[in-house]
Amino acid sequence: MQNETIAVHGGYNKKEGYGSMAVPIAQTTAYAFRDSEHAANLFALKELGPIYTRLTNPTTDVLEQRFAQLEGGAAAICVASGQSAIFYAIANVAEAGDNILISDKLYGGAVTLLTHTIKRFGITAKVFRSEDASDLEEQIDDKTKAIFFESLSNPQIAIADVEKIAEIGQRNGVITICDNTVASAALFNPIKWGIDVVVHSTSKYTNGQGTAIGGIIVERDGLAEFFKENSARYAHFTEPDESYHGLVYTDVPLPNFCLRIRLALLRDIGAAQSPHNSWLLLQTIETLALRVDKHSDNTLEIAKFLESHDKVKSVNYPGLESNPGYAKAQKYFKDGKASGLISFEVESYEDAKKVIDSAKLFSVVVNIGDSKSLIVHPASTTHSQMNAQELAEAGINPTTVRLSIGLENPIDLIADLNEALN
Ligand SMILES: *Cc1c(COP(=O)(O)O)cnc(C)c1O
Repeated sequence: MQNETIAVHGGYNKKEGYGSMAVPIAQTTAYAFRDSEHAANLFALKELGPIYTRLTNPTTDVLEQRFAQLEGGAAAICVASGQSAIFYAIANVAEAGDNILISDKLYGGAVTLLTHTIKRFGITAKVFRSEDASDLEEQIDDKTKAIFFESLSNPQIAIADVEKIAEIGQRNGVITICDNTVASAALFNPIKWGIDVVVHSTSKYTNGQGTAIGGIIVERDGLAEFFKENSARYAHFTEPDESYHGLVYTDVPLPNFCLRIRLALLRDIGAAQSPHNSWLLLQTIETLALRVDKHSDNTLEIAKFLESHDKVKSVNYPGLESNPGYAKAQKYFKDGKASGLISFEVESYEDAKKVIDSAKLFSVVVNIGDSKSLIVHPASTTHSQMNAQELAEAGINPTTVRLSIGLENPIDLIADLNEALN
């Protein structure tokens, strides 16, 4: 089935929802078992079914199935935010003494999580260049547990060499994890290009209206075989889990990556998504493809306007032919569309502040992927926890202004920006 069809129907059986056309919200904490044997069977995974909403929820389950189908994956698991999705994906494979390889072009929250916070858990991060992956393979060692990157990065708007990263991961038996938040499942599906695991902050384009925080992790088919082939690196999946009465994940005929997150990490750390947020995301995912198309078209128009403006030093948008990412956008993204993030450089920090403070239709907000257009100064906000060297390496300058283009008519947005720039 095509993605637009999956987005509307995937994962939902109306018969199980009292014939309700909208997916019902199971606004409940826990579920009644038929009897004590049923309860015991659920805990022993002899039967599958809901136990407690920290672990599973019928509304969330529909979203998980729908999203897995959209991304071409075998299974998905929803969590409370994009940040918790990243943390769980990493903590699922790495522990003290291990290392991970992370892209040089990442979301600010991912940078602090993966370089500072997980270091306190004994996991170290090494940085590689994701746009060409030229220094990736040489940095892999026996303790490398994951390669983490963004398909279209926030806020640098850089496109990763996904095929090369997937190939290096496969050749070395290391899990590849792609944060696909900015491209969205409507424009790009990393699993179809050989990536093992996809994470999203569903707070962004998937939600699209800035009304819910959420995260999701999707795994490709066949990871159990991958773990068995690489059992020295991924022993947690092939050896008994003491915390789950000796369960061996690769013996369970369910997609292993999400299974272990659910049984161990959601159980113990518990960043579960609320059923109400799952329901909100089920509403918005129906229009994902339409919206991302329009976000992309609007952004291209604005990029062309900015490129022609004499107060703008440079424009970074991979939908522009002049952009170094243009060929990759054409190769990877549906119809070559490049989503709604754009950044541009002005002459000075004062000029950047002036544009941000003068634009009227653009709200000063650190979010992205909203129907409302947003403007921000990454160096002093989203990336302010990074030091000068980290900022320079990530390509963020004091003169950089980032826009997240919404669904307004671009005529109005261009008029507003023109006034703010002059
Ligand atoms: C926003 C964002 C995140 C974090 O997601 P939250 O839902 O805010 O926790 C992770 N990755 C990218 C690329 C993002 O834009």
